[in-house]
Amino acid sequence: MQRKRIIIVGGVAGGASAAARARRLCEKCEIIVFERGPHVSFANCGLPYFVGGEIVEQDSLLLQTPETLRARFNLDVRVNTEVVAIDRTAQLVKARELATGCEYDQPYDSLVLSTGASPLKPPIPGIDHAGHFTVRNIPDVERITAWIKDCNACRAVVVGGGYIGLEMAEQLKRRGLGVTVVEAMPQVMTPLDPEMAAWLHQELRANGVTLHLSDAVAAFEAPQPGEAARASVVVLKSGQRLEADTVVLGLGVRPETLLAKNAGLELGNSGGVRVNEHMQTSDPRIYAVGDAVEVRDRVTGVWGIIPLAGPANRQGRIAADNIFNRPTRYEGTWGTAILRLFKTTAGCTGANEKSLRKANIPFQALHLHPGSHAGYYPGAEPIAMKVLFAPDTGKLLGAQAVGHDGVDKRIDVFATALKGGMTVQDLAELELAYAPPFGSAKDPVNLAGMAAQNVVKGEVELAQWNQVATFDPSRTVLLDVRRPDERAKGHIPGSIHIPLDEVRSRMGELPRDLEIIVHCQSGQRSYFACRILAQNGFRVRNLTGSFRTWKTATASTGS
Ligand code: FAD
Repeated sequence: MQRKRIIIVGGVAGGASAAARARRLCEKCEIIVFERGPHVSFANCGLPYFVGGEIVEQDSLLLQTPETLRARFNLDVRVNTEVVAIDRTAQLVKARELATGCEYDQPYDSLVLSTGASPLKPPIPGIDHAGHFTVRNIPDVERITAWIKDCNACRAVVVGGGYIGLEMAEQLKRRGLGVTVVEAMPQVMTPLDPEMAAWLHQELRANGVTLHLSDAVAAFEAPQPGEAARASVVVLKSGQRLEADTVVLGLGVRPETLLAKNAGLELGNSGGVRVNEHMQTSDPRIYAVGDAVEVRDRVTGVWGIIPLAGPANRQGRIAADNIFNRPTRYEGTWGTAILRLFKTTAGCTGANEKSLRKANIPFQALHLHPGSHAGYYPGAEPIAMKVLFAPDTGKLLGAQAVGHDGVDKRIDVFATALKGGMTVQDLAELELAYAPPFGSAKDPVNLAGMAAQNVVKGEVELAQWNQVATFDPSRTVLLDVRRPDERAKGHIPGSIHIPLDEVRSRMGELPRDLEIIVHCQSGQRSYFACRILAQNGFRVRNLTGSFRTWKTATASTGS
């Protein structure tokens, strides 16, 4: 009997995973991996850190080579070879060796497309100037580092505030360049809600990065007399001109689907290849995985492009499983992601407020600022957390966290809770590892669960930071229950001040006919005040996240 022939197009995250899993499931089959670039199985996620010099050796980015893949997995890896067409009827791919232009047909029984996503390059005048770069592969970062060195670049403009743009901004700064980030939206990192992204704006500015928000690039021009720019002058819609010795374009990615499209495979509305839960395309012999496919958001049910390495790797494994009749399923993506930006870490999982609104899913949003570990043990840092949950059942819908310490493990606990379909009650009940250097007896995740439970049970109602500006003083009064020294450092205009410990004795000063929005520094003491006042007949709401959330968000967005 003829050996089963598996062809994999794209030899990095999803493709390499599919190939290695296929070999583990079948020693006898023929597995050919075609990769257009010069490297397979390289660490795309590590590329920015090579530019900044945190990863010193370029070889560290090569997780495998064609030789190691042959030695360990008996894979036939053909780099610098592009698959240019698929003949579905004859079950052939046409491969082109890029060095020679030589083309040949290669038959398959099963085909896996893991062609990834290419950086977006919108038709902005001058976008192809010398000194402009996108970041996708090792040759890209080789070109960037060579350019910076050769022309002694001092000023970089990063266009786009997504995670690749921000990682590049951090690493260019680390290299000693002056860095400006330009973002057309009012915030960076759109998977975060704006008040959470505000912490990143603060961190960028604190580290000397100039940030232009709500301002898109209109053109890249050659320098005029009096201007100096080794790459181009970045002209913003606002009219500002930024002189750049190098420009990094981090404008997002588009799934690479030309091959699939030309082969007549079904594409989804967001432009990715449409697959079923076995990662099969509309042709059951052809699988597609990774950044090239559309995935279903596990919370909202909406199909979209969520380009992340974890899903790509898992999907590659699932495609291989299904080729060998192990019917494993990919059920969708929560978009769990994390970013380090200087000393700050930001992570998110599940839906954010924007996506829940768009999908018309009712939710409650809770903000809190627990310490990363027990306050009495040195080095605890507040974590800004946002938890989204169903108002009636308390089902967890999403979480975001930003801070200097302990963000990664909390986001991973939330991500696990989402996969488990947990409620905020479950979060409150999780038994998490605790010793003072690591956490608290009530871990931030437990606290989030407890605080959210109070909302679900109707023990407290919440007000949000962005409602403050809209409060009508004839109906609402803002009450600050912080200590006088905290208030002295800043307060919400128009708020009245009664420290928490005086609330019982001074409640006669509070109006009974108005709603009282209570805040403290982070929302916990104001919750205590809410409980006192509610039980004494006042109409109260707790300003969730309190002064800390309000101050950071309004400083950043101007709301
Ligand atoms: P890729 O890994 O991009 O591989 C696709 C390969 O297919 C490419 O090498 C391409 O050359 C090849 N190819 C395409 N068409 C053809 C063809 N016709 N013939 C032959 N070969 C072809 N994700 C995270 O989760 N965390 C991170 O921290 C993170 N950081 C990132 C940083 C950077 C700079 C970049 C670029 C990406 C980062 N990602 C990160 C995203 C992650 O790398 C991708 O989600 C993941 O690599 C997708 O895997 P893939 O197999 O779909 O595509």
